[in-house]
Amino acid sequence: MLPFKVVYHPEYDLGVPDHIFPWHKYRLMRDALLREGIAAREDFLEPKPASVADLKRVHSAAWINALRRGTLRFSEITRLELPFSQRTVRACRLAAGGTTLAARMALLDGVGFHAGGGFHHAFRDHGEGFCAVHDAAVAVRRLQREERVSRVMIVDCDVHQGNGTASLFASDKNVFTLSIHQFNNYPAVKPPSDIDIHLGDQTGDEEYLDRLRRAYLPALSEFQPELLFYVAGADPYCEDQLGGLALTMEGLKTRDHLVLGAALERGVPVTVTLAGGYAADVDDTVLIHTNTLRAAMQELERVQRKPRLAAPAAECAQAASRNGGALKKVPLLSRCEER
Ligand SMILES: [Zn+2]
Repeated sequence: MLPFKVVYHPEYDLGVPDHIFPWHKYRLMRDALLREGIAAREDFLEPKPASVADLKRVHSAAWINALRRGTLRFSEITRLELPFSQRTVRACRLAAGGTTLAARMALLDGVGFHAGGGFHHAFRDHGEGFCAVHDAAVAVRRLQREERVSRVMIVDCDVHQGNGTASLFASDKNVFTLSIHQFNNYPAVKPPSDIDIHLGDQTGDEEYLDRLRRAYLPALSEFQPELLFYVAGADPYCEDQLGGLALTMEGLKTRDHLVLGAALERGVPVTVTLAGGYAADVDDTVLIHTNTLRAAMQELERVQRKPRLAAPAAECAQAASRNGGALKKVPLLSRCEER
């Protein structure tokens, strides 16, 4: 039995086997976790679709109405690059509900693992790059509204820059966004995240991990989030069809341990979402995602065996508000761009 819940819904699979996005990877991952005895049936939670009220905190009424009524223009469907149907819309809303549920579970258990989500290219008024609804933003806004969290960090390790995330939280001092990605790749226009790490083509494990470590660790320590979203894309993998980086399986495992371990050591709960992964062999993509889950198990176990390095984020936030409300982004790190 797992020390945290895995959020999953069978309707994440859009049933379009010819699409470049392997929509059946979620089911394959669930099956692998059960088959290998990593998870039991009771470890899985099924989400409900995000409500219209939840969507409205992130997306424009026009975009939500177009999705619900199926009145997208041809150009909007082309930009979305998805087979558009009400089944697709339901899957997007389920994913947003799923990330919200995983975030709630993270606050309880330390980790909430969503075997779905990571749709970081969705904007307020349109979708693109397979992403119609920004699941992490829906979760952030819902939990902020319930006053469960205030300060949130989103660490995006998908090979493609989190342009929707950067745009949605551009002027929000309580949400810190970090994206590490291949520069010469989609999206062509990259709205600035709080930290963007632009990597050259064929960047390998060593440089990737070094640059992630040097940017992420100080940002995490200084911003002191109460909750972290880890967008754990599998597409920095060297065999990925839509990626141009050269990370190995081992490099990706180290990445997972770095992101998860540093947050958990500091008492920051982590919501994991899967995002992209287009390996020529879908089993590689599923293996990368299941390795992320294994890393979450191992890191949670490790930090529970020894004292935390720092006070829990909630205490830090309280201390900060007592000290005149340092609940703002750290100026040193804001709008830092790396090349
Ligand atoms: Zn991607």
